[in-house]
Amino acid sequence: MPTSLADQLPVYPAGNVGDAPLEHALAEIQELKRQRNAVILAHNYQIPAIQDLADFVGDSLGLSLQAQRTEADEIVFCGVHFMAETAAILCPDKRVLIPDLDAGCSLADSITAEQLRAWKDEHPGAVAVVYVNCSADVKAEADYCCTSANALKLVQSIPSDKEILFAPDMFLGDYLRTNTNRKLHVWMGECHVHAGIRPRHVEEVWADYPEADLLIHPECGCVSQVMWHLSQGDFPADRTHVLSTAGMVAAAENSDANEFLVATETGIIHQMQQRQPNKTFVPIKADAECEFMKMITLDKLLNTMRGGIHEVTVEPDIARRALRSIERMVAVT
Ligand code: SF4
Repeated sequence: MPTSLADQLPVYPAGNVGDAPLEHALAEIQELKRQRNAVILAHNYQIPAIQDLADFVGDSLGLSLQAQRTEADEIVFCGVHFMAETAAILCPDKRVLIPDLDAGCSLADSITAEQLRAWKDEHPGAVAVVYVNCSADVKAEADYCCTSANALKLVQSIPSDKEILFAPDMFLGDYLRTNTNRKLHVWMGECHVHAGIRPRHVEEVWADYPEADLLIHPECGCVSQVMWHLSQGDFPADRTHVLSTAGMVAAAENSDANEFLVATETGIIHQMQQRQPNKTFVPIKADAECEFMKMITLDKLLNTMRGGIHEVTVEPDIARRALRSIERMVAVT
């Protein structure tokens, strides 16, 4: 993180934040954070200005686990709604605020709790695994929650005679089915941002950077075909890495490679470039931007912190059952 306000200023656009000049707004956010005993969490896909002033930047579950460890009374979650819900489930003793309650997620919206219940009824005895990108109601109906970092290990830990229902992401589900050979039924949901990243985008960019490593998120619409190309020997297996967002950031730090092609939402490149200023990061699709993530702005953050508004809560019974599916994930991964 930048060490002072002055260090941060060059990365922000000129002008006002709401009714305050930029530097005043940044100083006020820091002061409100102190007064409210709050912690600011920012997802890797947030705008650079938000990433730079956050206390922690990371993926959704990692951020909530960070928040559990702090002494803060309040969590200001700069991300989308299901992420703030997860923080509320994991941190019941803290207030969770989000700068825009309408910051949703096309993937989370692709399945409801009612739909999952009906799907489970069609497959009695099956184990329901849901990706963390879903609502608290859906998590409460599942046997296990998972992240893109632990989904493979979690599915492999389920007894081999069990059928598995996987929701809501069809690309991650297909990736899991291919890599585990399990009887795995996949819900046909998708994130519109990742689904738009296609194999031809990978081929075009890789042609320009033939020495680069490819970092690819398993939600991407190209992932199954990338795996197929890998099996055919068309793509270099030692330079193709299917990773969660946190895994991508870590890989860029720990790898000897100097060039990385990044197949996910482009906001993550700011975080990578901050940590590794001497390496080159190229988006596979330059306009892969999530408009829900970008709904969180500095003026909305300031407004939320001034008023202590936009609290995200989860009904206690839903929270208890959703927590169980998260804890079962933690126990096996
Ligand atoms: S990038 Fe996709 S999965 Fe992530 S918040 Fe946006 S719509 Fe949801």
